[in-house]
Amino acid sequence: MTTANDLSQLTAKAAAFIGGEKGLFIDGEWRAPRSGETLPVIDPSSGREVGRIAQASADDVDAAVASARRALEDPAWARMKPHQREEIMLRLAELIRAEAPSLAEIETVNSGKLIANTRLFDVDLSVHTLRYMAGWATKLHGETMDLAVPYAPDMRFNGFTRRFPAGVVAAIMPWNVPLCQAVWKLAPVLATGCTVILKPSELTSLTALRLAELCDEAGITPGVVNVVTGTGEVTGKALIEHPGVDKINFTGSTRVGQFIAEQAAPAFKHYNLELGGKSPLIIAEDADLEKAIPGAAWAIYGNSGQNCCAGSRVLIHEKHFDRVVAGVADIAASIRLGPGLDPASMMGPLVGAAHRARVAEHVERARSAGGEVIGGEIVEGDGSYFTPAIVTGLDHGHPTAQQEIFGPVLCAFPFKDDEEALQLANDTAFGLGASIWTRGLATANRYFERLKAGTVWINTHNILDLSLPFGGTKQSGVGFELGREGVMSHTVLRAGVMLVDE
Ligand code: NAD
Repeated sequence: MTTANDLSQLTAKAAAFIGGEKGLFIDGEWRAPRSGETLPVIDPSSGREVGRIAQASADDVDAAVASARRALEDPAWARMKPHQREEIMLRLAELIRAEAPSLAEIETVNSGKLIANTRLFDVDLSVHTLRYMAGWATKLHGETMDLAVPYAPDMRFNGFTRRFPAGVVAAIMPWNVPLCQAVWKLAPVLATGCTVILKPSELTSLTALRLAELCDEAGITPGVVNVVTGTGEVTGKALIEHPGVDKINFTGSTRVGQFIAEQAAPAFKHYNLELGGKSPLIIAEDADLEKAIPGAAWAIYGNSGQNCCAGSRVLIHEKHFDRVVAGVADIAASIRLGPGLDPASMMGPLVGAAHRARVAEHVERARSAGGEVIGGEIVEGDGSYFTPAIVTGLDHGHPTAQQEIFGPVLCAFPFKDDEEALQLANDTAFGLGASIWTRGLATANRYFERLKAGTVWINTHNILDLSLPFGGTKQSGVGFELGREGVMSHTVLRAGVMLVDE
């Protein structure tokens, strides 16, 4: 099996960008990091270094925040009409669309993901996100009301509200859907007239840097979009602690989310946190197994399980348990692992060797606790490949069944009735996604009402749309991205009162 991407097949544009020199995008220009430090860019399919990115220090972050603050007040941006922001966003969408092939290639080499996946989810969804959010720029309406003011019976007042930009946004992203995450953070900023400092994951920073070039080409006012790269401990921490930041929009692990909430609290910075999950996929007694079995397999094995909503716990009515486990195991065995650039690959490598070691450790812990594991092997070689796994016979309280693994590891549990299924489904610290597979409308409604999750799918899993708010409950997060809620969270409301007559 060829496990390394064949980099000679890259478009010239992608190859030049991956290997080229990269700085920090601050105030509309490229700057070298003050420390001169850089970090490697690794292709997970080969473990080889293919480029380098800048390591931004606290000083660089300070310059980026200062630039975003200036841009917030810059009349060129602050007084720009909503329809003009809309036009700029549509222009940016068009530039991304035109660059789709090379952007997808860059993402695939940097993240290990399949080229079809980076094209559909990272690039195309980014284009749709900008188009959808562009429409909101002209629809940031307030309200008007006829005020009662009971203590001033002889006076009349009009009340009204207006929305203003939330200010300077610090946006920190994970590595699993890099470009799409960057655009999910950027688009509401542009729609509402905020400014932003984007901090991509140090593992997958390339497409955010390319996005900065495209923002420049789209004519976005200098300083409105800044991109700083570097580690979470240095660059990310400096960013969230910075007093010049008004709002933090974070997607990543629950551990870092908790740290951010603590840092933001004393200054009452606004934040939304999109965190981890351990999402249940429930196969009811009356489910259509022809659909539910592949549904369960791809809910966890898609993107190598590196998906915050991955259906990592499958709860199966006891009548169907053996058939579903065997069906999922068959699909897992048929998955062809290979490099993301090879269109025949069905699953790419994990994002890196350190992450794969963590995933493998979870599987080992399950084995030593008496769990039966099918698959779940490290593939020898230079790339960080790991075969898809299904684990049965574990106690539901075991860490492998409770903690987020973020890899292709599915834990399966039987249940007797709806009560037990709901109890197991909600028996986790997380509450991001959940799905119920059933032919019955009443069953679907019952589960929808009682599943504690930000999104509940019925006979499907992992379907997101820009018009739907996306967020989690419990330790899966606070607030929402996308939809109306995601836009409005980038605004602050101001109430107005006008004396009409005395
Ligand atoms: P992570 O929390 O380790 O890192 C996320 C980002 O935070 C990175 O850019 C990192 O550099 C930065 N960071 C790390 N430490 C920091 C600190 N002390 N201060 C500021 N920034 C810091 O997560 P990850 O491993 O990159 O991504 C995987 C996680 O992301 C999983 O838990 C997954 O569930 C979650 N995720 C959630 C969603 C969602 O929408 N809910 C979507 C995708 C991924």
